[in-house]
This record gives sequence, structure tokens and C-alpha cells, in this order.
Amino acid sequence: MHSSYYEDVKCIKLPINRFFPYMFVYAYIVDGLLIDTGPGHSKAQFGRILQEAHVEKVAITHEHKDHCGMAKWINKHFDVPIYMNKVKRGRWSLNEAFVVGQVKNIVKQYPEKIELKQHTIQPIYTPGHTRDHTCLYEPNKGWLFTGDLYVTPEPKVSFWSESISKHIESLRSVIKLDFETVFCAHQGIIKNGKQKVTEKLNYLENLQLQVVRLYESGYNERGITKKLFPEKARLERLTFGAFSSLHLVRQIIRSHNKHV
Ligand SMILES: [Zn+2]
Repeated sequence: MHSSYYEDVKCIKLPINRFFPYMFVYAYIVDGLLIDTGPGHSKAQFGRILQEAHVEKVAITHEHKDHCGMAKWINKHFDVPIYMNKVKRGRWSLNEAFVVGQVKNIVKQYPEKIELKQHTIQPIYTPGHTRDHTCLYEPNKGWLFTGDLYVTPEPKVSFWSESISKHIESLRSVIKLDFETVFCAHQGIIKNGKQKVTEKLNYLENLQLQVVRLYESGYNERGITKKLFPEKARLERLTFGAFSSLHLVRQIIRSHNKHV
């Protein structure tokens, strides 16, 4: 666990898997609001940080366990509201269903605004990566806590249950907001955040066009994947295919077929 500050925001970097510390997730604390809880390990250290930072409220960007894994433990040890978007949820893997089952009865629906002492935070509904995905926006500072909306400007893989068309819609709605700094859950702080989020939107729109063009000229999902992503991405190997380029291509074709 490593922590640093950006202005008054405490940034806590946690390994997603404590035995294979190759991938990391960030939790942020701003003015008594914890944004994402990290995975369900490192409880002792994390508990001390929450106490020291006087956490009074918790906001969870989405249902993946590296973002909400500590919610149950926090609920047991701290008397604080835990907000999460309580939309009708989608398909889960067994592991996800277990985690969501643990949190769904303890979380509260997001209010319109989260009022803190120095800041007002607006939840912005941004489905796509998951059905419940929510960014947190601080308009006075131009800060956007993006959860997993951004992560990389040029994704070569996607998670098996994502919706790329909804993800694109969410990126389009977010770039209308007045922000500059992105607090990404996996990349940390990105100072030219709006530019990077716009790059991702342009990339995905372009990818969508390429996939549809190949599909309409007779290529199947696997053929398109081989042509556009000849090399297996590192994340595909690290996650044993939970994230893959084939999922990305398949999701684009599915939403294309729904709209024709
Ligand atoms: Zn996620």
C-alpha cells in the first residue's frame, strides 16, 4: 500500500492481488469521502488510514471487487453511509455475484449531490464498463473521478460483460462536463484528463467503424480480432481471458446487429 497527496486528495495505491502485485487500483479520499474501497485485503492498514483521514462517507464507482471489495468490512467497522448506483444489475460471473451479494444490502442509492465540508461532488451515471458505473465530479475544481471509465486511451481488450456502445455514450456525455484532472482508478492522476478521455472516445468510435466495416465485408468475430489485434494484449494474458480482444469485437458487433 502506497499513498500520496494531490492537493487535498489522498491517493492510495493498492495491489489488486496481494500475491501477484502486477496490477494496481487506486482509492481516493477527498474531504472525508472515500472513493472506492479497493479489494478485500489489507484490512488492518486500510482501517487505520480511514480513521486518520476521518472518512465520513463512501462512494463506490462500480460493482467490481477491486472497487467495492472492502465495503462489507467498512460497514461492519464504521458508521458511515456507502453509496453505490443501485440500478438493475446485469450478468455476473460467480465471483462477482458473491461480491455484489455481499454489498447490495448495505449500500445506499447515490443522492443527487454529496455535500462535503469543502467540496460538492456530483455522481455522474456512466454505464458501459458495468451497468452501475458512476463517475464522481467536482465541478469547482474540474476534477473527475472516473472509476474504470478511462483506464487507457486505446483499449485492446474489454471485460466479458461490458457494453461498448454504452461506454461510448458515457464518454460522449462526460466530455461535455467542464473538467481537466482525471483521477483514474488504475492509472492514478492524469492532469490533461479531458484530452485523454476524448482520445479514448475517438479511438473507440474509430474502432467501431473498422469492426463494422470488416463484419459487413464478410469477416467473422475471430477473423476481425486477428486482423485488428494480431498480438495478445498483456491484460488478456494476466486475466486468463476475462479481458480479451475477442470480447471487444463481439460487443461491437452485437450492438451493431441490435441497431440494424
Ligand atoms: Zn471495473
